Parts: sequence; C-alpha cells; structure tokens
Amino acid sequence: MVKGKIPIFRRLMRKREEPKKYSSTSKISKAKFKKTKALVLVSGGLDSLLVVKLLQNQGIEVEAVYFATHFDNTKNLRWLDFLINNMNVKINKMNVEPDYLDMLKKPKYGYGKNMNPCIDCHAYMLRKTKRLLKERDAQIIATGEVLDERPMSQTMKALDIVEKEAGLKNAVLRPLSAKLLPKTVYEIQGLVDREKLLDIHGRQRTRQLELAKKYGIEGFNSPAGGCLLTEKEFAKKVKDLIEKGKSFDFDDVELLKIGRHFRFKECKIIVGRNEYENDKIIQLAKDDDLLFEAVSIPSPVTLLRIKERSTNSEYINAAALLTACYSDAARQGINELEIEYRSSKKDSTIIAEVDLKKCKEFKEKYKV
Ligand code: SF4
Repeated sequence: MVKGKIPIFRRLMRKREEPKKYSSTSKISKAKFKKTKALVLVSGGLDSLLVVKLLQNQGIEVEAVYFATHFDNTKNLRWLDFLINNMNVKINKMNVEPDYLDMLKKPKYGYGKNMNPCIDCHAYMLRKTKRLLKERDAQIIATGEVLDERPMSQTMKALDIVEKEAGLKNAVLRPLSAKLLPKTVYEIQGLVDREKLLDIHGRQRTRQLELAKKYGIEGFNSPAGGCLLTEKEFAKKVKDLIEKGKSFDFDDVELLKIGRHFRFKECKIIVGRNEYENDKIIQLAKDDDLLFEAVSIPSPVTLLRIKERSTNSEYINAAALLTACYSDAARQGINELEIEYRSSKKDSTIIAEVDLKKCKEFKEKYKV
C-alpha cells in the first residue's frame, strides 16, 4: 500500500459514517434562514424610498407596492423609475377596483382640503396589500408615513384609524416615525430591529433630505404632492361628477383629465383642446353621448352627455355653440358655422352662430 493512502473500503466506510450535513429534515428549519420580506407602499415620494433603504439596511428583502388609482399625479412617478433603476426593487403595480370609486363617493372619514379621502384611501390600499402578503411570501407591511407630516391622514389618531379599518392593528410599520409610535407586531416578533428605526416627526424635511444625501438619492427636494384629488381645479370636476353626474366609472375619470368642462343644467359638455384630447374624447364617449365637430374648418370635438336620455334641443344648441366658439371660425371671420353631431345611431347637422359675446357669457356661467 502506498504510504498515506487510505484503502477504498475504509474510505467508503468513513463516508458512510460521516454525519449528514443540513438536509430538509434538519432540526434547524430552513424557514429560520429565510429572509424576511417587506412590502413597502410607495406613492412616489422620497419618504417611501427612504423606508426601502432603511429596511434593506436591516437585511430585509423589499418589494414595493404601487397603487394606480386613475388619479395618479404623473409628477410623482419618476420616483418609481428611481426604485427600479437604482434600488433593485420589484414593484407590484396594483390597479384599484370599482370599489375605490364607491369609497370616493362617500368616504367614511370625509375629504381633506379638496376631494382627497386620504384616510379611507390609505385604509383601502393597506387592505389590498394585506391580501398580497401571502402571494408575495412577505411578512411585513411598511409605509413611508411620517407622524404629523400631513394634517389629515398622518396624525396619531388617523394612523390608528387606518390600521383598524384595514384590519392591520399594530401591523403597519412606519420606519421613519416608528420610535414615536406603539410597537408593531414585527418589532415584537423580532423581524425588525426597532433600534434601527427612526423618530422623525412633523412637516420639516431636514432629516429626510439628510438621509437622501447619505443614501445617494439626489435631485428630489420637495415632498411628493398628493394625487390629483388634492388639486383644487381637478377636485372641482370630481365634485361636479359625484354630485351631478350619473353613476360613473374609470372612463369618466379619464375624461376629467382632458378638455374644458361645462355643466349646463342637466347635461355635461366637454370640449377638446387639441388633437390628442379630441381623439381621447371620441374613444371615451358612451353610446348615449353626442359628439360635435365643425364640418368645414378645424374645430374641437365636443362631447354632450345628458343625464336623462333625451334630445333636448337646448343642450344641442349649447354644445354646438361651444364647438363654434373654440373653432377657427372667429379667426376666419365666419359668422355661422355648420356643425355635425353624431350619436351611436345617426348623424345630424346644425347651424351654430359664431357669437363671441355669447361664448364668453356661456363659459363664465357654466364652466366647471
Ligand atoms: S393623496 Fe390621493 S392617493 Fe394619496 S392618500 Fe390621499 S387620496 Fe389617496
């Protein structure tokens, strides 16, 4: 036998006797080593990005959850690109369902300064995120909320209401203010180290901006604004839709984002401002709507929506007048203009007077 060499038989025996390394039946469960995963609600603001960083720094895997509400403020969406490109975070994009509109019509906790039902909206999103936990194999739900940063939805009382309404009592982690809030189940269970969480409070952005600098998140100085429901002009149209419109759907919400809007008695008139809006109006029109357009010169597309189904000539005249008002007629010195109007059933034409004084009066009186 060559010196130092172990016979095959003995090597085989030794192999057999060797204790097994970890296996699926190991007493130390694989689950013990599974990385904790958090779902972080992102709205497009710096705060939620900081939460992603804070949790990642604790070794927690993070996935983002973004709710597309149809009221999204596109200004905020650049943050989502930042998340994808620089922080290696998967984004779960969730579309709100028609029940979101039901909530918007009658929010249990009311509206903020405009038509923003922030408390109900947060509860809605958290409720839906709770259902996502299992699917994404995650254990934690976290948000970028900061205590008292926003007057309606981020007071201690509001945070508490939101948790209860979402069925997540003590189960919403708010890492930026965690040390000022009651302990969450995640901290109690040891999934999150409370010591590494923060105690930011109020509307001052100093600490967030310092953290942003530290983490290399640059170029975003202001906090994210709210969604379109927080904007005064847009909110007026939403209010009008809720109070005077028929039941509405997401197509109606899309219509609110384009055109000039007029409420004339029992009807709604929307006038396109450019080619894009004209096309969009045609695309979003319903079967009962009438569409107006000048026959021979460039003009907007105008949509007439009547509350109760009727072909009231007063409404048709009003829509034709507005089409003429916003057409090239006045510039071309035309006093009367042929306007075509179409329904799903037939095409008709009407002659509209091009009267700038009447146009002005109508706009002032009926503009939403
Ligand atoms: S600002 Fe808009 S999206 Fe944000 S919570 Fe309020 S209603 Fe919801």
